[in-house]
Amino acid sequence: MEVLLGELRELMAGRGGLLPEPLPFRSFVAQARLGVSREEHERYFAGLLGDVVETTAPFGLVEVHGDGSGTEQVKREIDGELAGRVRVVARGLGVSPATVFHLAWARVLAAVSGRDDVVFGTVLFGRMNAGAGSDRVPGLFINTLPVRVGTGGVGVGEALEGVRRQLAELLVHEHAPLALAQQASGVPGGSPLFSSVFNYRYSRMPDGGPDQPHGSGLDGVELVYLRDRSNYPLNVSVNDLGTGFALTVHAAVPADAGVVCGLVETVLGGLVGALEEGGGGWLSGVDVLGAAERERVLVGWNGVVSAEVGERSVPELFAAQVVRTPDAAAVICGDARVSFAELDARASRLAGFLRAQGVGAESLVGLCLPRGVDLVASVLAVWKAGAAYVPLDPEYPAERLAFMLADSRAVLTLTTEEILEDLPADRNRYVALDDPLVVGALAGGLSVDSVPPFVPGQLAYVMYTSGSTGRPKGVAVTHGGLANYVGWAVGAYGMAGGGGAPLHSSLAFDLTVTSLLVPLVSGSAVVASAAGGAEALAELLGVNRGFGLVKAVPGHLPLLAELLTPERAAGSSRRLVVGGEALAGADVRGWLGRVPDSVVVNEYGPTETVVGCCVFEVRAGQEVGEVVPIGRPIANTRMYVLDAGLEPVPVGVVGEIYVAGTQVARGYRGRPGLTAERFVACPFEPAARMYRTGDLARWGADGQLVYVGRADEQVKIRGYRVEPGEVGAVAASHPGVAQAVVVAREDVPGDRRLVAYVVPAEAGTGSELPSVVREFVRARMPEFMVPSVVVVLEALPLTVNGKVDHRALPVPEVVAGASRRAPADAREEVLCAAFAEVLGLPDVGVDDDFFTLGGHSLL
Ligand code: AMP
Ligand code: MG
Repeated sequence: MEVLLGELRELMAGRGGLLPEPLPFRSFVAQARLGVSREEHERYFAGLLGDVVETTAPFGLVEVHGDGSGTEQVKREIDGELAGRVRVVARGLGVSPATVFHLAWARVLAAVSGRDDVVFGTVLFGRMNAGAGSDRVPGLFINTLPVRVGTGGVGVGEALEGVRRQLAELLVHEHAPLALAQQASGVPGGSPLFSSVFNYRYSRMPDGGPDQPHGSGLDGVELVYLRDRSNYPLNVSVNDLGTGFALTVHAAVPADAGVVCGLVETVLGGLVGALEEGGGGWLSGVDVLGAAERERVLVGWNGVVSAEVGERSVPELFAAQVVRTPDAAAVICGDARVSFAELDARASRLAGFLRAQGVGAESLVGLCLPRGVDLVASVLAVWKAGAAYVPLDPEYPAERLAFMLADSRAVLTLTTEEILEDLPADRNRYVALDDPLVVGALAGGLSVDSVPPFVPGQLAYVMYTSGSTGRPKGVAVTHGGLANYVGWAVGAYGMAGGGGAPLHSSLAFDLTVTSLLVPLVSGSAVVASAAGGAEALAELLGVNRGFGLVKAVPGHLPLLAELLTPERAAGSSRRLVVGGEALAGADVRGWLGRVPDSVVVNEYGPTETVVGCCVFEVRAGQEVGEVVPIGRPIANTRMYVLDAGLEPVPVGVVGEIYVAGTQVARGYRGRPGLTAERFVACPFEPAARMYRTGDLARWGADGQLVYVGRADEQVKIRGYRVEPGEVGAVAASHPGVAQAVVVAREDVPGDRRLVAYVVPAEAGTGSELPSVVREFVRARMPEFMVPSVVVVLEALPLTVNGKVDHRALPVPEVVAGASRRAPADAREEVLCAAFAEVLGLPDVGVDDDFFTLGGHSLL
């Protein structure tokens, strides 16, 4: 008995029992007569919860974290008619209404936690098995124990029967300490086994509260004060009032108790309806959202339909602009300045040349050119010829370019003599635009003056992005999708005030579409810099004043703060559109502090849905939190936040983003399987498709979407999209490597880098491997995909399932070279100290390699 008392004390103190004080000793008199041994308890809970860690990653909990500002309480009476139906249906099935309510709570929990296997605590009365005479013993007997409900792939009736059985079994164990149940579950002691508690109780009085004086229900006893308290962030109590039911939800702020109440009511209605019809329907199909709520997230907060946006193709918009402002500057690059009319004429001649080479609708033309007039003219020429382009970054290793050319089946590639030297030789047709023969042919050839008719489904470009299966995938974007984005952006980003846009990023990334095309269809100049990166952007911003639009990735913001003096920053631009990665509030505040009259736009969008499909604007003086929302979908775009069953999740609940509408790409070029996996039928719009993004988000109560993270391994490294699995596959293909896994780590906050863990093919051959593997990857992949660090391991750590255990991968140690030389003079000392600071290392030797130590271009 001593032991039991100790355990229960511990349970009450540590695991959020209902009372902060230890139990009165008298309560245990009856317990001494318990007929169930500790071993039996243990066996029962091990059977129920044994694999809870494995299957529910982490625990099938709703993750509610209070912000410390207390709990909110909401009470409601269940609608009388529904209450009656609950009783009738329960009686008919021979279960208690409590069982129906428990199942309702399981369904709600599954919906809000995004899991189909949930665990929650249920409060047990404690007197059922307390032995003879327990009804005469005063004191507290109640106990909280776990209930586990699988909500996926199970019918409503079957699930109800399961809950009934479980609650009956639980009665046998009602005195088992929760600590014992937790032990049996394998969930580590530091983490709670569940975070919500469900309390069904019989009561003849309405639920009390501090502000609600009422009787106690007992003759001669007056209730002075009653208040429920619990250490769990989410508490649901149902008072069975004999006829009706009262529902009380306590939720740790910021969880919304009122919303939770609404979910329970809706689910209860759905559940009862399903049971009345025989209980054959899926439990996961029971709606959690009421009709009005569903309409709000599916339609009300979604992008507007506009016939005007995307009405004309980008080539048509550009042609119209040429007529409006033929002499205005269209492209400026260094000393070169080309007007709209000149740019159009160049594009027309090049289009004629391409046609003569057999290029036409649906053919692909590679573009491997430096930023400048030729690049811009080539994009327009390809479209004039009716074809689509494949952007090829000249910086990429030949092997990767060769893959893209072969995979896309490009007819030919436009390039320069200089770049040509490094391009893969085999079977590709290249045309160097500075080759005198080509220059001659262009001057004397036919030109295509008109723009092909707008066919929305026709291909505009194919852009390659990292593929988790080990090779890049080409996203096939249509003219219709592009026209919608550009048409929308022209209106929203208002370039009418002129000022142009800096072109500093690679054509191989879709963010560049904004700075390239929006100015060209609105009479503004594209100001191109042959060099790229944050330095080039800072330079452009400092020299050219008053840009109308600047496109950047979040990583640029702290760098611009460093590279641009406050005087240069102020007035550098009217609008900063940031996209590609989560945007931190601090960076936005920093920018607006320096450029107060500008607008910052957080633009969200995968390449598969054309650059941007969701935006949130911030102006100086506007409050922004730690993470800036991604806002609302743009015109002719719908975004859905769905659960695994493709049902919309309630406001505040995390789900996966699916994008539907005009901007959805055709798919991945030549990859029908992959396309079918990610471009799926839309359940909300007839005959429409939606793109499954792999991004997690939730709706805020204000109807703004908040980005939460990824559902998979995909990461952004300095703004570039990377599938670590692709890098791992390349690393593993080195003959000296038996196994490789690549992960993105952020051991130093704000510095995310790729780390490769490799197991050598032959034991003991590890010392050279890190540099060998890095060089091997560098020869095959763009710089941002090369792991910063390669760690050699004897074996990869595995989980019990035999999968690589990412959490067990060690933090890479930086090993300085053996021949490490200390700084010899003041200059070397200053330099080494500076490098150490930048790299976040205690010290750096004179001969150390900046990149091997984890350095990269942005650092
Ligand atoms: P990409 O195809 O390179 O444009 O990358 C698309 C991915 O970048 C999205 O699926 C998101 O994971 C991420 N992303 C893009 N824009 C944002 C944003 N504004 N906030 C957070 N993540 C973003
Ligand atoms: Mg993007």
